[in-house]
Formats: sequence, C-alpha cells, structure tokens
Amino acid sequence: MQTEIAAHVLNKCSSNGSLLNKEEIIEVLSWQDEALLERLFQIADDIRKNQCGDDVHLRALIEFSNHCSRNCLYCGIRRGNKKLERYRMTPDEIVDTAVKACSAGFKTIVLQSGEDTWFAADKVSWIVKAIKDRAGCAITLCIGERTLAEYEVMKKAGADRYLIKYETANPDLYHALHPEMDYENRINILLWLKEMGYQVGGGNMVGLPGQTLEDLADDIILARKLNLDMMGIGPFIPHSETPLHDFPGGDLKMVLKTVAVSRIVTLNSHIPATTATGTIDAEGRQKALRCGANVIMPNLTPAKYRKLYEIYPGKKCSDEEPGRCAGCIKTMVKSMGRNIAPDYGHSLKN
Ligand code: SAH
Repeated sequence: MQTEIAAHVLNKCSSNGSLLNKEEIIEVLSWQDEALLERLFQIADDIRKNQCGDDVHLRALIEFSNHCSRNCLYCGIRRGNKKLERYRMTPDEIVDTAVKACSAGFKTIVLQSGEDTWFAADKVSWIVKAIKDRAGCAITLCIGERTLAEYEVMKKAGADRYLIKYETANPDLYHALHPEMDYENRINILLWLKEMGYQVGGGNMVGLPGQTLEDLADDIILARKLNLDMMGIGPFIPHSETPLHDFPGGDLKMVLKTVAVSRIVTLNSHIPATTATGTIDAEGRQKALRCGANVIMPNLTPAKYRKLYEIYPGKKCSDEEPGRCAGCIKTMVKSMGRNIAPDYGHSLKN
C-alpha cells in the first residue's frame, strides 16, 4: 500500500534523489511492499542508465595472498583462523596473471589480499610497474591499511585506484567488529587517498550483527559525503571459522534496497554487483544490475588458490577455471541487453 509519505519519498527519489535525507532513506529501507520496491528499483535503474549508460565495467580480480595480520570478526581469512592453509602468489606470478587478463580484454585489474606486510610498498610498486609496462590497463589496489607514505609510493608507481571499504559507518559497530582497528583512521585513509589522486572505493556490508536501518542509511550518506568514486555493497555471510558463525547473514532484499538507494543518492558512483550478492542468490548479481549496479568483478585468481581465499563460504565461481568465469559473466551481461564497456571505466565524478 502506498502511504502519503511513501508517495512523497518516491517522488523525491526520481526528481532530486541525491538530496534524500536520513529519515527518507530509512523510510525507503523499511519498505516491504513489492509494488513500492518495483517502483524504487525502476527509478534506480533509470538513474543508472542516465548517469552511467548501459555499459557494464568488468574488473578482473586477482586475490594474490590470503595472509592477514588482522582479526576482523566476520572474515574467514582473519589471523585467528588457524585451519586455513595460507598462500602467497609470487610477484612474477601476479604480473603474469594480470597481463594474461589484460590480453583477454580486461581493462582493469584489481589486486586484492589480506593485510600482508610481506608485500611491502616497494614490492607492490614493482608489481604495479611491471603490469603497467607490459599491459595497458588500470590498476586498483585492495590491500588494506598502510601508511600515508606507502600509499604515496604505490600511487607514484602507477596505481590508479584504491578500494578500502568502511564496512559500517557506525563507529561503535566498527570497533566491535575490528579489534585493534580505528574507525577514524579508516575514514582518514579514504580522505588521504582521494587527496593523493587515487580514484577511491568504499562501501559497506549489509546485515551485520546488530546493524540497524539507521546504520545503513549512514553508510549511504557517508558515500555521498566522501564523494566516493566507487561503492561496494554486499551481504554479510557468516563463516564457520569466525566468532560470528552463528549469526544470520544479510538478506538479498535489503542488499538490493541499499544498492538502489545508493545509486539514487550518489548518482554516478560506480557500484558493483558484488560476488557476495551472487553467492546468497543465484541471480543476485543480475538483480543488482537491474537496480543500480554497473560493475562486475570476475574472479581471475588462478584456480589452485581460489578456494583458499575464503573470506566467506560458498563464494560464487570459487571452483571454476578463471577463463570460464569471465566467459559466463560476459554472456550474462549481454543476455540482459547491456554492453561490456570497451574503455577503462574510470571514475565518473569530476
Ligand atoms: N584486506 C583488504 C581486503 C579485504 S577482503 C581490505 O581490508 O580492504 C574484501 C572485502 O570482503 C571486505 O572489505 C569485506 O567487505 C568483505 N568480506 C569479508 N568477510 C566477509 C563476510 N564474512 N561476508 C561478506 N563479506 C565479507
């Protein structure tokens, strides 16, 4: 049923959605009515089309190390998980994998790992330079918290983008989930990275234990405030070897609502249809692409390491050959009437 307030908020979503205030965002996130949600998703899809076009940007993900010095309560590769076999790809192996992905047509390589100090800034820089010398591609780093000086060195080496999610914009929840870490530092890192000229990605998980609609509204508002170039949104998925193993995971409907409102509020931020969303629902990524998302991150990690990068269980495509994974995503995008972007897919923010 469409109440007066729902009608007002829907109207604002389509006329000047970037100005939605916190109460209005909470109102939208509370909707359950299918007809209302259909309208919401349609508005988000229209804004995506106007702001970003029909291109879907593919970012080839290489998970090069599962060593991690952190102990985030939700994450399967936390240092406290003694059952996990750890691996590190060699720098040469990383470069070769990246160059092959570029030859296969990928325009962006995302290098992701746990917080692994073995990969000091000079090693990462060597890898970035070597990839750039051999292939014309954009490089995103997603390797966690480093010092200002290290971020600078890696930027100079040629890294274009940095992805570091804030996970939640509620400082108390952040501190409960991240022992030994500091919310303010996380936010400062995002600000530094922007200032240094990186294109910056942030984002949050949906359905974290104790998370409220108000928290989710703050997650979305923070992305707007930081003027993020990219925002990654995925469900929390419980992992058996973590302290949060007994908590329920995030729910698809809430992820889709968060994606849709994020599109409406941030207008032209890149928003991926995340692998986590495809993990909790076989059609999850397609659904996200229909309510605001415009990016997919196919997993190009060599098959022998894939299963070991188990941040959460059941990760989509974790047992497929890299080439097959990319092929099936391309088919999926085309079958939705969308195009694979031919360009680098740099930030759409000015
Ligand atoms: N060390 C890097 C990469 C972390 S893993 C960094 O700090 O940025 C990449 C993302 O996986 C995280 O940002 C988090 O949002 C997500 N993730 C980790 N564990 C998860 C879980 N159990 N369920 C859903 N997403 C998870």
